[in-house]
Amino acid sequence: QARRLEGIDKNIWVELVQLAATYSTVDLGQGFPDFPPPDFLTEAAVRALSGENHMLHQYTRAFGHPPLVKVLAQFFGKLLGRDLDPMTNVMVTVGAYQALFYCFQAFIDEGDEVIIIEPFFDCYEPMVKMAGGLPVFVPLRPKAPKDGKLMSSADWQLDPAELASKFSEQTKAIVLNSPNNPLGKVYSRGELELIADLCVKHDVLCISDEVYEWLVYDGKEHIRIASLRGMWDRTVTIGSAGKTFSATGWKVGWTVGPNRLLQHIRTVHQNSVYHCATLAQDAVAQGFQRELELYGKPESYFIQLPTELQKKRDWLVQSLDAVGMKPIVPEGTYFLVADISQFKSDVPDVPDSDEPYDSRFAKWMVKNKGLATIPLSSFYCGAHKNYSHFVRFCFAKEDATLKAANDILQKWK
Ligand code: PMP
Ligand code: GLN
Repeated sequence: QARRLEGIDKNIWVELVQLAATYSTVDLGQGFPDFPPPDFLTEAAVRALSGENHMLHQYTRAFGHPPLVKVLAQFFGKLLGRDLDPMTNVMVTVGAYQALFYCFQAFIDEGDEVIIIEPFFDCYEPMVKMAGGLPVFVPLRPKAPKDGKLMSSADWQLDPAELASKFSEQTKAIVLNSPNNPLGKVYSRGELELIADLCVKHDVLCISDEVYEWLVYDGKEHIRIASLRGMWDRTVTIGSAGKTFSATGWKVGWTVGPNRLLQHIRTVHQNSVYHCATLAQDAVAQGFQRELELYGKPESYFIQLPTELQKKRDWLVQSLDAVGMKPIVPEGTYFLVADISQFKSDVPDVPDSDEPYDSRFAKWMVKNKGLATIPLSSFYCGAHKNYSHFVRFCFAKEDATLKAANDILQKWK
């Protein structure tokens, strides 16, 4: 075994997805919709497959199928307010996962530090380590909400002095994930400016994972850190068609950024995967073309999907609150974190266990109640698994699935 694999052999998804498959009757664990993608997307896939253009079964351009990089450049150019060159400012990857992996491979040398904000999408830590880098963690710290209100993901904030103290001579990059998985936090302009100012001051790169960019609620605005002063030149923005079009199995993702950074990502790509499936890229291109034409209109999927999901969020918030599993109301994403403290008597603590309480609770719950969730401790590094009384629910589910989860909880209490 190569040294770079030391300590990263365990993976929460492999373990928890298997448990969910074995025991769950209601799966609100792994993040994927159980409703179909929009018709325009599946129709685009059928068109791509139809044989009208049989060359779609063959290799395409390494760095992205031309129709897809063209429409992504138009779309993100509009959002970022700058002209993007489809050939040099955009590159297509096999899901956002691969885009993240490429960023660390392309920019991180042995001993470079990478700042990761906790709680974080779990793969950032092993990916940094595989590149030889050192993850440096800084937490979002919860503040109690006022007047007995439910906590919001906005109540989880960075301490500016603590964040500043993590930047050193060795810092090469910071990973930002807004909207954040698992809390659903959508960073405000002020919070992003704090990060941006530190990146500029210390000449640090920003790897901005924005896969949930369309999933923001209550009229909140998703702000792209690449659009802030001094940030375009030092930011790689990552997106996912899986999240964008509710088709996580398609595994189409992308990076957007300046050529000075993307040129190195292209080097990793051309020497590893070469390109992502042509058919899937072609269908995603058609999906974006439709969305470009309907941008800002009520028929746009990027407006309809969050509207639907906000209703599901509100329903789950109310359902969890009613049984005493206090929800943290997410401002974005399709995840919601809830406090399991009031359910502790059913799953007693084992004081000297190595496994965090929430992890044992989530496993007990799927085995005994059939309800699959993800423990929040999975989104902290080994040394910081201290918020161990929360689990994460995915609410990108049919109403019937959410209702079945509610039935389990109601019967339980
Ligand atoms: N980043 C975050 C924050 C995610 O939640 C996910 C979930 N899959 C990914 C990246 C990976 O996206 P993809 O499925 O497109 O590889
Ligand atoms: N991003 C999804 C989640 O957070 C799925 C990740 C995975 O299955 N590896 O649940």
